[in-house]
Amino acid sequence: MIQTSGTAKSTIDVAIVGGGIAGTWLYYLLNKRGYGVALFESRALGTDQTLASQGMIHGGLKYALSGSTTRASEAIASMPTRWRACLKGEDDVDLRGLPMVADKYYMFANNSALGKLTSFFASRALRGRIEKVSDVQALPQFCGFNGVVYALNDFVIDPAALLEHLVAANRNHAFRLNVDSSNLRRAEDGFYEIDLADTQVRARYLISCAGNGSSHLLKQLKIPNITVQQRPLCQIIVSPRHDTPLYAHCLTGVSTGEPRLTITSHPGKQGMIWYVGGLIASKGVTLSDDQQKAKAARELETCIPWLDWQGAHYRIFRVNRAEPTQVSGRRPDEAYAAIEGNFIQCFPTKLTLAPDLGDRVLKLLDPPRYPGSFASTHQKITVGAPPW
Ligand SMILES: Cc1cc2nc3c(=O)[nH]c(=O)nc-3n(C[C@H](O)[C@H](O)[C@H](O)COP(=O)(O)OP(=O)(O)OC[C@H]3O[C@@H](n4cnc5c(N)ncnc54)[C@H](O)[C@@H]3O)c2cc1C
Repeated sequence: MIQTSGTAKSTIDVAIVGGGIAGTWLYYLLNKRGYGVALFESRALGTDQTLASQGMIHGGLKYALSGSTTRASEAIASMPTRWRACLKGEDDVDLRGLPMVADKYYMFANNSALGKLTSFFASRALRGRIEKVSDVQALPQFCGFNGVVYALNDFVIDPAALLEHLVAANRNHAFRLNVDSSNLRRAEDGFYEIDLADTQVRARYLISCAGNGSSHLLKQLKIPNITVQQRPLCQIIVSPRHDTPLYAHCLTGVSTGEPRLTITSHPGKQGMIWYVGGLIASKGVTLSDDQQKAKAARELETCIPWLDWQGAHYRIFRVNRAEPTQVSGRRPDEAYAAIEGNFIQCFPTKLTLAPDLGDRVLKLLDPPRYPGSFASTHQKITVGAPPW
């Protein structure tokens, strides 16, 4: 039950700071499980990493390009199936009605490129996760390609539509607020107090889903044991003259454990755009914008010569991934949720791992004690726009 005094104090179970996929997923899930929850986002929902993501719900095969399954690929392997259950309404997070942008994701390489990966992709360990396409020319996006194509069990969603779906059912407790020392304090009874325009929210738990804002929050709350690493990306937004969408990893000539290009397609302001990440985006962080644009043009002409790249327009988008600190700054394997007192720090580490994050947080929380609703006129939050 919500407790209020004369000065509009509202007591809830959980205050969530940050409205990317982590914060909105937990907001939906904890509401569903009967917790009293409020969400606080400083800008618009998804503004930083989530709306910059490529929206791939993947089973981690792109981390297995060294030719064997790794801990990372195994942790993620079940996620596409889990998300498909959400899309059918068979999970706590009911995503029925959320449109799929692409129901398949592909991997392709020119014929000479795959070497030992060919037998690995055909191995029993990967059964059900990857299948060789027998008639490549029947796929319009690969028509004219003289190479090998695999269909993965992965798919692509629209992160903006996902965020909207996750807050739509509980819009009244999702507020626009930059949570900082001016409006957040820890009370003597251990509750966290957050000041809205007309209400003081008192929460049993504070969950930070603040992504790149987490370090600041951790410092402010004097929690030194949890630390954050950032891994930068330099993504490319391409406006081609052709109108062929593609959802695929390019493996032509891969020599590292990362796809050479990771491509998704999205509706832009002036027609379809290709959003390009993968190795080119992680390596490109040291290049200038012009160097990265030139490299992207060369890569597309080399790797995807069956489409027309004359007159394509290139833009650069730089963004940091925020994650729990790993040895040597490596990519984390799983979702992360760590508790210190009644503070929980979360990093999904991938959009795909949101269900894994939800499971981990539920294990850390006591049962709901302050469910129910409270009214506040404080500004409510809306979904932001993707970078293209
Ligand atoms: C270019 C790119 C492509 C990616 N593609 C994929 C993909 O295809 N598939 C996949 O599985 N993963 C992908 N990822 C990873 C995935 O996007 C991220 O792991 C995920 O979005 C992180 O979500 P988050 O909620 O932790 O952080 P964010 O989305 O960054 O959200 C954090 C939010 O906290 C808010 N905030 C910060 N400080 C405060 C404060 N003090 N008060 C209030 N609000 C605050 C911010 O404004 C922000 O909205 C990609 C990442 C990038 C960068």
